[in-house]
Amino acid sequence: MDKQEYHVVSFSGGKDSTAMLLKMLELGMKVDCILFCDTGLEFPDMYTHIEQVEKHINRKITIVKAKEDYEYLMLEKPIKRKQEAQLTLRYGFQPKGYGWAGPKMRWCTEKLKSQPRERFLRELRKEYDIIEYVGLAADEGYRLKRLVNQRENHRHPLIDWEMTEADCLQFCYERGFTWNGLYKYFDRVSCWCCPLQSLTDLRILYKHFPDLWAKLKEWDDKTWRDFKTDYSVAKLAARFDLEEEFIRDGRPINNRVFFDALKERMNG
Ligand code: SF4
Repeated sequence: MDKQEYHVVSFSGGKDSTAMLLKMLELGMKVDCILFCDTGLEFPDMYTHIEQVEKHINRKITIVKAKEDYEYLMLEKPIKRKQEAQLTLRYGFQPKGYGWAGPKMRWCTEKLKSQPRERFLRELRKEYDIIEYVGLAADEGYRLKRLVNQRENHRHPLIDWEMTEADCLQFCYERGFTWNGLYKYFDRVSCWCCPLQSLTDLRILYKHFPDLWAKLKEWDDKTWRDFKTDYSVAKLAARFDLEEEFIRDGRPINNRVFFDALKERMNG
């Protein structure tokens, strides 16, 4: 016998999935579950936004979380590694925790997002045919090429409605959602501490979110993996400070003089 369909909206709290959810509800589309995977690493304004969405739609959002939090996994968790001997040789001790994520080792995506989400959906699949709504904007069609976004049970309403990222943001603004200005700073909003974010976004974090930057520095001081290939968090702060000084003096920050001064500052 065919299972009954169950309609799940993948909700990150960002502009695209917020616009998708609001428009689906406005059009009277069936939504059985609004699913948010909480990494614990969202900007505080994002958590406020999620509460505002719940109030606006007068519905509960289902929140799933990993059993162990990011800080424990990154800094403390004992991990069996194949390269145990090399790491001990390199660092002089056996590193604890996964450390910062890297381009080839996004352990946190797996542990904090994919696994809790899958665990939740696996249970539902026993009873239902899950139809999942994913907030890919029309100008992100390239992401559709990724296998994970091509599953038969996935739907992409924003692409069907030809809503671009800018349209989604405007749609949310028109309904009174502002994220307290997060999208005035960032084009995309994700985990505030992600080492894979651009220097531009890290510069904004340093300048406008000092409390989060202090936490970033605290974690960086405690972990064994480099934050970025060329920079620790402290070195990044030194770079951003130097940039400010150069800009104040009307000097460019993309030439040899700047990078020589930076080298000196970092080694000093
Ligand atoms: S956005 Fe960055 S920090 Fe967050 S889960 Fe993905 S890789 Fe990890």
